[in-house]
Amino acid sequence: MAILKVLTYPEKSLLKPSVKVDNINDDIKQLIQDMGETMFEAPGVGLAAPQVGVNKRILVYDVNATVKDDEKNKDLKNEFKALINPEIIDASGSIVSKEEGCLSVLDYKADVKRYEKVTVKAVNIDGKKLEFSVEGISAVIMQHEIDHLDGILFIDRISALKRAMYKKKVKKRLKEL
Ligand SMILES: [Zn+2]
Repeated sequence: MAILKVLTYPEKSLLKPSVKVDNINDDIKQLIQDMGETMFEAPGVGLAAPQVGVNKRILVYDVNATVKDDEKNKDLKNEFKALINPEIIDASGSIVSKEEGCLSVLDYKADVKRYEKVTVKAVNIDGKKLEFSVEGISAVIMQHEIDHLDGILFIDRISALKRAMYKKKVKKRLKEL
C-alpha cells in the first residue's frame, strides 16, 4: 500500500499514449491498489496510470462519484474499480461538463464538450471482460480518464486561446519556482 506521486502538466508521461496491459500480474494488481488509495487521498473521482508515471492502459474510478455530494451518502465508504485496456466503442449525444478539473492540471477548471453517453469495453482486475454504458457525470469521467491513456488532457479539448492562456500561466509558475 502506498500513496503515489501524482504528476502534473507538463510532465512527459502525461503527454504520450500508453501501452496495453497483456498480463495482469502482481505488479499490476499492486499498482491498481496504490492508484485507488492515491485517488481517494487526493481526493479525486478518477485516476489514470500515466498520472502516476506509468504509461500503461489502466484507470481507476470512484464507484460512488455520482452520489457523493448527496448528504445522505456522506457515510459511504471509499470504493473503487479498475479498468484495464478500456476503449470507448460507442458514443452519443452531447453535454458540457461543468468545471471539469484534473489532478494533473493544477489550479484550472473549464467547461468541456463531451459525449452524453458512452459504451466502454475493458477487462477488470480479474481479467474478466466487461462492456457497459454510462451517461452524464460517469460518462464524462470515462472520457476524461481514457483520454489520459492516449496522452490527452482536458486542456487539449478547450479553445486554443484558453489553452494558450493556461500554458502561459504554467510557464510563469515554473519560472517562479
Ligand atoms: Zn485527469
